[in-house]
This record gives sequence, structure tokens and C-alpha cells, in this order.
Amino acid sequence: MTEPLFRDDAYLKEAQATIVFADERGIALDRTVFYPQGGGQPGDHGALELDDGQAIAIVNTVYDADRKTILHAPESGIGAFRPGSRVVARIDWERRYKRMRAHTALHLLSVVLPFPVTGGSVGDGEGRLDFDCEPPLDKAEVERRLNELIALDAVVGCRWITDEELEANPGLVKTMSVKPPIGTGRIRLVAIENLDLQPCGGTHVVRTGEIGRASVTQIEKKGKINRRVRIALAPT
Ligand SMILES: [Zn+2]
Repeated sequence: MTEPLFRDDAYLKEAQATIVFADERGIALDRTVFYPQGGGQPGDHGALELDDGQAIAIVNTVYDADRKTILHAPESGIGAFRPGSRVVARIDWERRYKRMRAHTALHLLSVVLPFPVTGGSVGDGEGRLDFDCEPPLDKAEVERRLNELIALDAVVGCRWITDEELEANPGLVKTMSVKPPIGTGRIRLVAIENLDLQPCGGTHVVRTGEIGRASVTQIEKKGKINRRVRIALAPT
């Protein structure tokens, strides 16, 4: 089991950790700042560095089959990285921050468009959500309202509830394709002050103002009632 440090503080760029195992599956640490691919958000890139300065590039991060151990995928072989070694784990922060901004912007997009979400993905400063909705959507109007919400600079926080509480409030789940993981006993809810509350395990900015200016780049019809909405963020 890897302690997911990014869950309590998405702004951690690096942390000391110890290698638990390193084999063809990847490199597992006792704790990490690397976000593993999931919930539409890709796995982090970065580097692991040994005390003697040797570094290894990490090109993806995923969960192991147990969904508790986080695996760091090295660019090439594991070299001198052995179980028990102390490392500094450091993420590619520039890329991660773009994803945090885009991910939080997608929460706000789901407020602008309060329809069931059937899919989505987070990219580096861009992203998309698929909605089940019949009426045609006005791109300029969606963009205007999205930027209005961003400009509120609302606080983004999180709290935990039990499986039972979630089952009693099924309306909290907006995403039909990605069900929150039930069975671990507790679920993480991401709250955007007065705007949005939904289960999410991803990484977010702490205030919506950090998202910056967002554009709606495309609204695509993906079937009779499915609309794919793509957004892109201005560089900061
Ligand atoms: Zn989220």
C-alpha cells in the first residue's frame, strides 16, 4: 500500500520515500506525490532520485491490481533502484498544475451544463466532458458562464463520507460512466464552495481563480443525445 500524499495536498511537488519493490511492474514507494492514472486524469511524469544523485525518469504512474499500491513506470530499466533505497520523488509540476487547472475547470463545466456526464478526460491545460443532453448548446454562452464561475474564485475543498451516506444520496454522482469506488468504506467528495459537490479522487486547484481564462474550443454531437464539450485554458 502506498500513502497517496497528493490526496491531502495536491501542491506537493516532491517527497522523501522508500522503495518497497522495483520489478517489471514498476517501482513502488511507501509514499508518493505521483498521481496514478484514474478518473479521466493521466498518471504523473517526473523523476526519482537516489541519495547519491542518480536519477531515473518516470513516464507514467498507475495503480497496481490491488488499487492500493502505486506503480511508477521508469523510462528505462530500474538500474540501482532497489527495495529499501531512499529516494526523492519529484513530479513534473508544470504538467501536473495544468492538469489540476483543467480538472477543476471540468467540475465547473458540469455546473454550467447540469446534465448526466457519460465520459471525460483531463489533458495538459485542456479537457473534455461528454454529456447526455438533447438541447443544442451555445458555445459562446457556455464559455461566458464557465468564465463567470472561474472568476468567483471559489474555494475548492474536500471531505470524506461513508459508502452508506453516498448510497443515500445518489444525486451526488454526476458521472454515469465512472462510478466512485464503493467498498473501501469511505469516499472523497470534492466541494467547490456553493457550486458543486461530487465524488472525485483527482487533483484540483484550491481556488477556481487559479484556473485562469477558459475557452470552449468545440461542441461536438456524438449521437442523438450526446454532446462532447472541449475546453482549453489560457497559458499562465
Ligand atoms: Zn475532480
